[in-house]
Order: sequence, then C-alpha cells, then structure tokens
Amino acid sequence: MQRSTKIVATLGPATNDPAILSRLIAAGVNVVRLNFSHGSADDHIARAQMVREAAAQIGQPVAVMVDLQGPKIRVGKFEKNKVTLENGQNFILDAACEMGNQDRVGLDYKELPNDVSEGSVLLLDDGRIVLDVLNVQGSAIHTRVRVGGVLSNNKGINRQGGGLSAPALTAKDMEDIKVAAKLDADYVAVSFPKSSADMYMARTLIQAAGSKAQVVAKIERTEAIANLEELIDASDVIMVARGDLAVEVGDAAVPALQKRMIRLAREKNKLTITATQMMESMITSPVPTRAEVSDVANAVLDGTDAVMLSAETAAGKFPIETVEAMARVCIEAEKSSDYRIDRDFLSREFTRVDQSIAMAALFTANHLQVKAIVALTQTGATALWTSRVNCGVPIYALTPEVATYRRLSLYRDVYPMMLAHDCDQKSLLTSAELKLLEQGLVQPGDLMVVTVGDTVGQMGSTNTMKIVRVAQR
Ligand code: PGA
Ligand code: MN
Repeated sequence: MQRSTKIVATLGPATNDPAILSRLIAAGVNVVRLNFSHGSADDHIARAQMVREAAAQIGQPVAVMVDLQGPKIRVGKFEKNKVTLENGQNFILDAACEMGNQDRVGLDYKELPNDVSEGSVLLLDDGRIVLDVLNVQGSAIHTRVRVGGVLSNNKGINRQGGGLSAPALTAKDMEDIKVAAKLDADYVAVSFPKSSADMYMARTLIQAAGSKAQVVAKIERTEAIANLEELIDASDVIMVARGDLAVEVGDAAVPALQKRMIRLAREKNKLTITATQMMESMITSPVPTRAEVSDVANAVLDGTDAVMLSAETAAGKFPIETVEAMARVCIEAEKSSDYRIDRDFLSREFTRVDQSIAMAALFTANHLQVKAIVALTQTGATALWTSRVNCGVPIYALTPEVATYRRLSLYRDVYPMMLAHDCDQKSLLTSAELKLLEQGLVQPGDLMVVTVGDTVGQMGSTNTMKIVRVAQR
C-alpha cells in the first residue's frame, strides 16, 4: 500500500538498538531527525551511519535531518534539582545566580533581563508555569507566579508575544553545522529563526562546511509569523513547530496558522513538516487517542508533506507501533475526496523551461487517465514542482544521484528510485519503463507521463514531456 505523506521520526535512546532502528525504518520512516539538543557529535555521527546501513539493507531511501539546538532559553539548576512554585509567590530569575532555590534561579541566557520589563509574561516549561514580570533590577527579573507548579533544572523559557533578542545560530550551532556536513546530512533545521537573515546565515555556513544539505526553518517564534513569507522564500522546508509556537502565540492560534503555513509553502514551491505531540500519548500507550488520530489526519488533509514524531520514537515505549499507527492514519486520510487540495495551478507563474514542462505533465495527469508521472531528474526540481499540486497520481522520481534520492524521500507524492542516466534518451526511457514494470507499479497498456531532458545527465535540462503507453513485453 503506497503512502504519499511522509513520516519523520526523531532518534534517541529508544532507537539505539540497530534491530529496533531497522524495524522502525521498515515500518515506514522516510526521514530521521537527529536532535542536537541532546547527545554528543560522536553519538549523532554513529546514528547517521546506522541509519544509512539499515536503509541500504532494506532498500528504502531515508533522509537524515540534523536539528540544531538554537538559542533555547533556559533557567539554571536548583540545589535540590527542582522546586515547587506556589501561585502568588514572588520568584526571581537572576542572571548572576549560581544555584537556584525556592526564591530565585539562575539563567543560562544572560541577556534575558534586557529583553523584558514590567508587564512581560514569561512561560516556563512549555507554558506549564506562568510568571508576571514586576520589575527588573540589574541582572534580576522580579516576578510573581501566576500559575505555579514543579520547576526543575534547565527548563525552557518563552516570552509571550515574542521579543527575545537571542540570535538563531549559537556558537554551538555553528560547530554542529560542521558535524552535519561530516555526517552528510540531507537537511539541517534551524531552531527559532526570526527572519530570512537567519536562514541565509545558516545556508552560508552549511555551504562553507562543504555540505549540500537543504535548510529547514522551524516556525516557532512570534516574529517568524510576522516574517513568514520571507522565511519561506529563504528556506527549502518549513516546520510547523507547534511546541514552542503554541507557547509564544497561544495554543488556540496554532491550528489556523498550520493551515496557512502549509498553503503558503505549497504556493511557493516549498515543503512542510508538521511537528510535535502528534502521537504524544503513544510515548506510554500502544494505541493513539481519537484526538491524535484526527490531528494526524487533519495535517494530511491540510496538505503537509510530512508528519513528525518526537519523543514518541526517541524515548517512547512503543516506537514501532507509533510509526505503524501514523502510517495507517495517513493512508486512510489520503483516500478522502477532500484530499485534492490545489488544482488551480493554472494561475501560477513560472519562468523556467523545466518548470513549464513539469506543469504540462501535471495538466496532462489531471486530464488524461494516467497511472504515473515519471520524472527523470538529476536535482529533483521537476519532482518538486509536480508534487506541489496534489493531482492524485504518484510521481516516480528516477535519479542517478544518491543525494537527490535521499532528499526526495521527504516530498509528498514522490517515490524516489535510483536509475543510472548513462545512456541516450531513448534507452533511458526504456529502462525507466522496465523499472516501473518490474516493481509492479505500472502494467502493460497503462499510460504514463514522463519528463526528461534532451541532454541526458545535464542538470536543469528537462525540456520534454512524453506520454508513454507501457508496451506489452
Ligand atoms: P523542538 O522543536 O522539538 O526542537 O522544540 C519543535 C517544536 O517546538 O515544536
Ligand atoms: Mn521547538
């Protein structure tokens, strides 16, 4: 059963066993996420190696996404590792404090006192604890606890409405970009970008490190919503990073923002990943809740390229069951008649020859009963364009480039396969047809739309659309 929506799974302690990792990939993981907020460079390099070996053995393309930690703004540590804050009590966040207690705690982000003032609202531990700022005295932020609870070491801090000045790329991230290059990451995700400048900076550093990884902007700050269009333009992929975003903009605003982000990204020929708490209860339970099933299905109906698992696979008790459940929900949602979300591409503007051919292929696929769109592609560009309009026909991307093969595993509706392009166009078309026949993806007599270039093997040279009827053999 083909599934067109892709699954991103975060690796962690629960997936360290190579046998578990292989089963996870076989269960349908298309992209693995290495979370650089945890673990050493050597751990991540070893994990990437393990993923590539398992994927090769199973014969499935799997992309590796490095997720940079970014400027996660956190409290320091407590003498007894945690305290319980009571509603109404005063509490101080002090950049100069070494060890926390019931009255105050240190900050690992020393600039925070400069970024807040009387009336600011600080949300700790993903919004579980709410502090109202009374005033700032030097390095100390005096607050009153509006919503108390247990606060433990190194919990995150967000400011409601945004406005923290921390740059998106920390010194650690800059080092980690070199690690990403070393492990040959396919995607690098930037945490907490505020504007396109953060993404250009990341891309420049990635290229300087000798990596061809594409960049993912995690949309999780209030400022990122204001700058959404320029962030999408500056990135290859955006992540609807609902965890931090909900804290900054308020949880109720997130569902509509998710729909808007996915629609805008598709219009701009970019990709989307919908992330965080999608199958949260499966961290400890073998079955999802009804609400989680609906959440995953709705993201599919919104048109997301991929749905993401975080702690469910990294640290959960049922990583394999979670991937299986997610895959099952995606496949069912894709059958819905509401699923074709975007057929008005006639109004789109495009300037390139290869893009025009991709659009011609789509037009044909929409009006003629074809079984497959076949993109013979070096860079994956034609597969990207054809996949931005949901036409309900699978797109087989046949590429000689291993980097393209892996990268395309994130694209909705695209099924990447390796195929040597070291022959003339006629033989290439024949070998493509044979490959699809061999795998049972088309039958003799089926129609398929093929995009290809005259100069086989040259990037950006696609200039031909061919309608092929699969021959009897
Ligand atoms: P994180 O990002 O898991 O790295 O925090 C995703 C999110 O905030 O939703
Ligand atoms: Mn986040």
